This record gives sequence, structure tokens and C-alpha cells, in this order.
Amino acid sequence: MHPLSMSAKIIDGRHIAEQIKTRIRAKVQQLAETGLNPGLAVILVGEDPASISYVTAKQKACQEVGIRSFDHRLPASTTQKQLMALIAELNHNHQVHGILVQLPLPSHIDTHAVIEAIDPNKDVDGFHPINVGRLVIGQGRLLPCTPRAVVELLISSQVELEGAHVVIVGRSNIVGRPLANMLLQKAKTGNATVTVCHSRTKDISVHTRQADILVAAMGSPNTITADMVRPGAVVIDVGVNRIPDPGRKSGYRLVGDVDFEAVKEVASMITPVPGGVGPMTIAMLLANTVLAATFQQ
Ligand code: NAP
Repeated sequence: MHPLSMSAKIIDGRHIAEQIKTRIRAKVQQLAETGLNPGLAVILVGEDPASISYVTAKQKACQEVGIRSFDHRLPASTTQKQLMALIAELNHNHQVHGILVQLPLPSHIDTHAVIEAIDPNKDVDGFHPINVGRLVIGQGRLLPCTPRAVVELLISSQVELEGAHVVIVGRSNIVGRPLANMLLQKAKTGNATVTVCHSRTKDISVHTRQADILVAAMGSPNTITADMVRPGAVVIDVGVNRIPDPGRKSGYRLVGDVDFEAVKEVASMITPVPGGVGPMTIAMLLANTVLAATFQQ
């Protein structure tokens, strides 16, 4: 146990996500009375088990709040041309307000070309270069779901962002980079000082130990250890890693990028895996779909 042991408050992502979903359900009902029924098309190519479970969870969440979901499960052999044709059709379908292509795509498909083919107004993942550019210049509308989930968890937990030093470990286009841009915005939900670390950073712990808020998004199990965390810091664990566990029926269990048991004795607040960022990411996808539907109307 750390000498300054304090045992962190656990940020309950499931509970916060449920509260947001309750508000979204009410909004969907209100829109339905005006004749607008938000719809989300989810495209899955191939049979990656993790992707299947993410897509299934997203569709279930749509049902829970009354968003129409259009399911497109395609074989791994789907060609770029076939996928582009489906996206073109969904771009023109007025019942579809959001289009989500589950990543990663099989290696024979050009992911960038697929993302660019999505109508930016239906890009509920916020990955289209137009939406990325809008975010960078402070004009973001459809923001990527996982970084948005991180910001919402911090706000819901009354963590002060303004002036805070946030250290993000990971610079991917879906988590680290957009999150850094969101936290840098000159806005109440930003105004942080942001450091971004990656695999080429010299001595990551020098940076992580300075963080008021530490976000781990590396995809590397249990890598942030207690000695890398400043006592009292807020720790958000984005990582989702499957590690073998013969004791479980599935043969694996999920762990984050943070050594949860040790770090919770040092941090003031921490998100668990599972039950932290994951459920909030899905809630943000629902929120983006409703937002896209309202501005398309
Ligand atoms: P990614 O594209 O593989 O990016 C990982 C980033 O972390 C890269 O920038 C990489 O550096 C850096 N990195 C990897 N190992 C590192 C280490 N040991 N030290 C320092 N930096 C390191 O992954 P991603 O798509 O961003 O996902 C990250 C994690 O979040 C994964 O576990 C993923 O499953 C999870 N995730 C969860 C959700 C959710 O809803 N909960 C959503 C999305 C992703 P380089 O750039 O130098 O390679």
C-alpha cells in the first residue's frame, strides 16, 4: 500500500451512463412527437469477437432509448467498392441520421477512404476529417465518443478542468489526439494544460507524476503503476485489454491500462474497467445520434 494511502472514489461509469440515457430517452420521445425518429446505422465487417460485442452493445443501447438501429453485418470478404456503395446508400437514407463503421476494418479495406465517404453530418463517431478539423478550430459539433465520454465523466464527477494539468498517455486518432483538443478548447469544459505521451516519450513517469488528471489510453494492460501517479490525482482508464483467465467460461477477463488495485490507493478518483469509460462511450454515441438527427432536420 502507498504511504499516502487514501483509497480513491470509484467513478461509476455505468451509473452516470444510465442517467444520461434516461435524459436521451426523454428527448427521443419528445422528437418522436414531432415526427422525427432518430436512426443509427451500424456497419460491422468481419467477425472479430470484440467488435461483435461492441456492435451488439451499441444496438441494445439504441433499443433502450428508442433510437432506430439499422444493422449491417457484412462478411470479411466484403470489398471496398461494396462497402462504399452501402455508405452512399445510407448517406441518402433519410431514416438514417448516424452512420457508424466499427473499426478496425479488414486490412484489404482503406479505412481513411471509408471514413471520408461518410456524410460528415451523419458521422456520429466524429472521425471524418471535416469533423476533426472543426474540433481543432473550436467549432466541433459531432465529437468522438470516447474522448467525449472522458470529459463527461470528469464533469459529472465535479473535477475542475480549468487550469488542471491533464496528462494523456496515447496519441491515437480515436482517443488521445481528439481528447487533447477537447481539453485545450477555450471553454468551460476545457481550459486545461495538456501533455500527450506516447511510445517514444522518454520516461513517461516523469510526466504522469505531474498530472492532476491522468488519462491512460495505450492498450497495454496494467501499465500505469502506483509509483507513476501523483497522490490525489484523478485517473481515467480508457484501456480495454483481454487477458487470459482459465477460471472464466469465456477464457479471458477485461483489464484496463492502469493497475487498478494499487493505483486506487494513491488516486483521489479512478474509473474501473469494465464499468468506467466503456458504458459512457455508448451513451455518447446515442447523444451524437440524437444531435445529428436534430440538426439534419
Ligand atoms: P492505439 O491506436 O493502439 O493507440 C495506442 C497509443 O498508446 C499510441 O499512441 C501508442 O504510441 C501509445 N502507447 C502504446 N503503448 C504505450 C506504452 N507502453 N507507453 C506509452 N505509450 C504507449 O489504441 P487506441 O485505439 O487509442 O485504444 C487505446 C486503448 O483504449 C485500447 O485498450 C482500446 O481497447 C481502448 N479503447 C476503449 C474504448 C472504450 O470505449 N472504453 C474506446 C476506444 C479504445 P505510438 O503512437 O507511439 O504507437
